[in-house]
Amino acid sequence: MNPHCPFCSATVTPRSRFCPTCGQALSQSPPRFSASSPIASGDPPIEGALTNAKRLQVRGNALDLRDLINVVESSVQWWQRGLSSGDAVTRDQAARAIDELSQIMRSLSQQLAQGRTTICITRRLPALRTFDVACPSCGSGNRAHARFCQRCGALLNAAPRYGVGSVRSRALKFRIAARTDTGRVRQQNQDAVYAGEIDLPGRQKAYLCLVADGMGGAAAGEYASRLAADVSRTYLERESVSHPPLTDEAWQNLLRDAVRAANRQIYDTARVDATRRGMGTTLTIALLVGDRLHIASVGDSRAYLLNLNGVTDDGALSAQLTSDHSLVARLVDIGQLTPEQARTHPQRNILYRSIGTDPSVDVDTRSEALEPGDIVLLCSDGLVNHVNDEEIVQIAFDEPDPDRAVTRMVNLANERGGRDNISVVMVRVEGGRNEEREHG
Ligand code: CA
Repeated sequence: MNPHCPFCSATVTPRSRFCPTCGQALSQSPPRFSASSPIASGDPPIEGALTNAKRLQVRGNALDLRDLINVVESSVQWWQRGLSSGDAVTRDQAARAIDELSQIMRSLSQQLAQGRTTICITRRLPALRTFDVACPSCGSGNRAHARFCQRCGALLNAAPRYGVGSVRSRALKFRIAARTDTGRVRQQNQDAVYAGEIDLPGRQKAYLCLVADGMGGAAAGEYASRLAADVSRTYLERESVSHPPLTDEAWQNLLRDAVRAANRQIYDTARVDATRRGMGTTLTIALLVGDRLHIASVGDSRAYLLNLNGVTDDGALSAQLTSDHSLVARLVDIGQLTPEQARTHPQRNILYRSIGTDPSVDVDTRSEALEPGDIVLLCSDGLVNHVNDEEIVQIAFDEPDPDRAVTRMVNLANERGGRDNISVVMVRVEGGRNEEREHG
């Protein structure tokens, strides 16, 4: 539940420093970190209620693969009834659901054939903070009803109003660090990371960060992740300076095209080169342009947004911006598991979407407003295998230097076993000119 202003009793968000209704400064104690208790192996199993009255056992964070295949099968049967509906929308929805479930079934069967018996659970994405009005003084986003800026207390109603997609571009500064590590178990690092500037027209710069996590064994996975990084980066560098997008939608289209170019090249290479057959990779890209963040993602490499003032309307300090394209994430989406049953966790997910394994690929994209104090973090599953979201938040805000922060995260994953390659890219977003005025 949201807190109330002690002066006028209006509802305020946990991230507000000033009351948006009366403009009074709100005294705030800094948010506390809660150390999350690890899931004990002795936890009682949770049972998920299924539409067909079958029961699915969730023990700790693991699901039995054969149970899941049964669930997917019965889900397909359930959706098949929708195919004979008189309503075209229902038929279309059913057809798309069956298509997704078929991809999942194929992936599950392959995993089972390879000797795997259980998988881990992920969760649905949260709703992020919404900004309707930009403060004329500090540029921070505010809700539509606000009279005073929740960040600096300035009067808002004298200011021209900006739409959600056109919050005034602020001078933000970015401090970036990237690190990838082989871990303690594997012989090779099949992850690839990149962080750097790309040119826009008129000497403007954007900042590109990416993580790719290759698969396919030996040389193939390493090659796939490098190729995904190189092809998408080159594509974005070329197009951003020659045909710079002007809207969020256009940036997302550009990102999607860049990811598809990488997909095509890896797929074609895998077809003609027997040593690289079946290779694939995840690819998660963050592009920071002005005060906008554009994300594209395929697979289970994650992007997070972190801020001590909260990144969601209910004040969560971190939010995952990407879906894990894993079986269990999809079961949550289609209502076969509730988000409460689906606990985030460590260990490799079964992917049903990746780069290079099919001639075409669906790419998730989104755009968000950036605020001073934000941290954008990309990582491969080798980090989240061992380090939970609360710990990521804690290290990110304990350690102001991004190089040291990413090193601490990698070191922690290694101390806990380093079972997989570990990659982290971090961007600290700092206020530029407008932010300085707030303090001066
Ligand atoms: Ca991995």
